[in-house]
Order: sequence, then structure tokens, then C-alpha cells
Amino acid sequence: MKRIGAHVSAAGGVSNTPVNAAAIGADAFAFFTKNQRQWIGKPLEKTEIKAFHAACEEHHIHRDHILPHDSYLINLGHPEREKLQKSRDAFNEEMQRCEQMELKQLNFHPGSHLKQIDEPTCLQLISESINLALQYTQGVTAVIENTAGQGSNLGYRFEHLATIIKGVEDKSRVGVCIDTCHAFAGGYDLRTAESSAAVFEEFDHVVGFEWLRGMHLNDSKKKLGSRVDRHHSLGKGEIGIDAFRFILQDPRFDEIPLILETTDNEIWAEEISLLRGFENEST
Ligand SMILES: [Zn+2]
Ligand SMILES: [Zn+2]
Repeated sequence: MKRIGAHVSAAGGVSNTPVNAAAIGADAFAFFTKNQRQWIGKPLEKTEIKAFHAACEEHHIHRDHILPHDSYLINLGHPEREKLQKSRDAFNEEMQRCEQMELKQLNFHPGSHLKQIDEPTCLQLISESINLALQYTQGVTAVIENTAGQGSNLGYRFEHLATIIKGVEDKSRVGVCIDTCHAFAGGYDLRTAESSAAVFEEFDHVVGFEWLRGMHLNDSKKKLGSRVDRHHSLGKGEIGIDAFRFILQDPRFDEIPLILETTDNEIWAEEISLLRGFENEST
């Protein structure tokens, strides 16, 4: 079955996240385990973690269906040694926070070369950063998200994701998350069921569905191949609704978090029931 949710607010403490998810009819969710615009978060209190677990249980949300997102400041492929180290330290800390919360995965954007190093060198730095983070933690999978390829961000080609995975030593703890808006802005045509089928066939060929740990379901304000990351509500952007129906009716997307990061959180509940409707059409 499909597990559907949104990137919900953690304001007031992480234990509010399952409550916020349940309020929109979600049985999956994403959140920031700390303020995403700061380098270091304040340590999680044991009582807060307990309350988080109790709330997950109360709202019947399984920890496999939770996909936390790291801070936007982190660049695991930073070309400058000192800044790379700062990013690695912050990423390790975020992985540890997930471990403390007994969460199984952390979603992150791979990194940017800032036009100072070439793509292969940057991808290798990212793999190394993941290797280090996996050494410092247990039980948490590093989930690489594809990007729109804005600026010098890598990860906008499926080949980038495959290359990063290749450089990771512990293959049991690396995976990918595909964001539909990013894929579309990166040049993958998701406008029809047929073109979506072709994109995911290419994904399977280049990366492989066995690595897929989650999806971000977003429409795009910008055109195919624009390399600009601007999310839109489902069906209201350049992608349209067919890709989302396709995903909800394809069993390869079962039992992984399908997360909305669409622009209007007032209609998340509606979007979730729209998606559940697509799933039910097929059964
Ligand atoms: Zn995303
Ligand atoms: Zn985005």
C-alpha cells in the first residue's frame, strides 16, 4: 500500500510532527530534526524523543515511513577543505539525531561543486562524506535526493546518483529519494503516463528501484529542463496530474514515504486524499 504525507512543521518540538501529519490524514511524513537554517541544533531531550515515539504510535505512523530532511546549509561536496569539514560535522550530527530518534533514514541534497572542481571530483567527495557519516552512526541510511540542478548543484542526472552510490562502501545504508519537481526541472519529462513510465524505466536502468527509499511529490512552476527548483501544488504546474496518478498506481512505490513539499500547505489534506483516490482506482 501507499504511504502518503507531507513535510510537516516541527515547531514546538519534534513530538508535534506525528500530530501534524495525522491532522492532514497522512500515514508518512518528513520534517527537519533541527532548524534547517542553522549549523548546529540544540541536543534532543530524552523526554522529547519519548513523546515523539508515543505520538507516532498513537497516530499509527510507522518509523519506516518517516523521512527526515537535513539542513540546507550542508554541502557534502564542498570544494574547500574547511567548509567541507564543517558540512561533514553538521551532517554527522544530523545522522546522530536520527539515530537517537531511532529513525532509519536521512534525506539530503548531494552537494555543489561551486564551479571550483569538476563533477567527478565533487561526486567522489560526496561519496566520501557518506562513508564518514556511516562510520559515525548505526542503523541510519543516507538517502540521496535528486536535485533540479540549480546553480552548481549535482544530482540532477540519475547517473550522478548511481556514481555516488558506487563510491559508498556500506551499500546496505545508502538509498535515493526522487523529487518529481527536481526530476522535471532537471530534464525528465513527467507530463504524461507514458513519459513517466519511460523516466522511471530509465531510473531503474541507471540507478535501480532497489535503492528507492522515498519520493517527494511536487508539481513544478518552471518548465521541463529549466534547472530551476520551484515547487507547485499537484496538477497546477508544468507537470500536471498524470505523473502522480502513475506513481500511485505503480506497486514499485509501495511502502515508501511519498512526501508532499507542495507550496500550499492549506490543501495538503485535499492533495493526500486525491492521491489516495488514485491508488484506489487501481484496486
Ligand atoms: Zn524534495
Ligand atoms: Zn525542491
